[in-house]
Amino acid sequence: MTGTLAIAAKRLDPAKFRDPAVTAKGERRAVVGLAALSTLWINTGTLCNIACSNCYIESSPKNDALSYITAEEVRAYLDEAVAIGAPLEEVGFTGGEPFLNRDLPAMLRDVLGRGLSALVLTNAMKPMMNQATALLALREEFGDALTLRVSVDHHDATLHDLERGEGTFARTIEGLVWLARNGFRVHVAGRAGFDGDEAAMRAGYAALFAAHGIMIDAGDPVALMLFPEMDAEVDVPEITEACWGILRKSPDSLMCASARMVVKRRGADRPAVVACTLLPYDPAFELGATLVEASRPVALNHPHCAKFCVLGGAACSR
Ligand code: SF4
Repeated sequence: MTGTLAIAAKRLDPAKFRDPAVTAKGERRAVVGLAALSTLWINTGTLCNIACSNCYIESSPKNDALSYITAEEVRAYLDEAVAIGAPLEEVGFTGGEPFLNRDLPAMLRDVLGRGLSALVLTNAMKPMMNQATALLALREEFGDALTLRVSVDHHDATLHDLERGEGTFARTIEGLVWLARNGFRVHVAGRAGFDGDEAAMRAGYAALFAAHGIMIDAGDPVALMLFPEMDAEVDVPEITEACWGILRKSPDSLMCASARMVVKRRGADRPAVVACTLLPYDPAFELGATLVEASRPVALNHPHCAKFCVLGGAACSR
């Protein structure tokens, strides 16, 4: 963690998050059922053109723990979604940097051609620009059904570069401006952990967008998503069944109630389906090889469940 984001925090109690059925205090752990599969995430592979200091999935130019998935493999899941009558509305693509996967344009065409929405999380740098012609053709054909969510960690170039590497801010803004000028539906993902003042962060992004003529409403929590920091070592409360009533939160509001993610592990014969985008590596959250197998409920047995989803309030979809 960088000095900018570091805060003195109590370390996680090792007795927590051990038993999927009960918490350290012996209370029944909260479980989330799949209410309706409306969003399917595809991890395109963990390779990335840059290495960020706080990347939750540890993407880098060297990390291929999750391999490039192929258009054919994705197609099989889209077909399965139809076969089982899943009310799929949107397919999201995350990496790594999705545009490094050469099959991305074909995968997007498959998704959009079925009348679904597509969302791509990107740093908008060179790998995306290398696919500019294919992207323009997709925008021409499918318009606003395609959204690109560009990661801009901070509206200040120095702080962004501290996370992502020197010179990355300038190249990302160049890509963002290109997307905006060419009429793409564009959102931005930032990080909320820099100073904790959300209003000030949003005002800073608003000024950045205005300076570059980018038509994104920085006050819109979907158009500008500010994600809380994810540190699985920091102590967090466990989520019990009683929490739903105490917090007045519905389990159906969590990502794992409406989404799953497909990953392809290095060396694996075929892809696997995990509970959500936040836990691609934890075997306890790998639910099966097919969407049917992966439709079983998920026990909230990870610090991310508590911090990021139930208490942090962030979602990874639209
Ligand atoms: S991290 Fe969030 S979305 Fe993932 S399984 Fe836990 S509660 Fe569900």
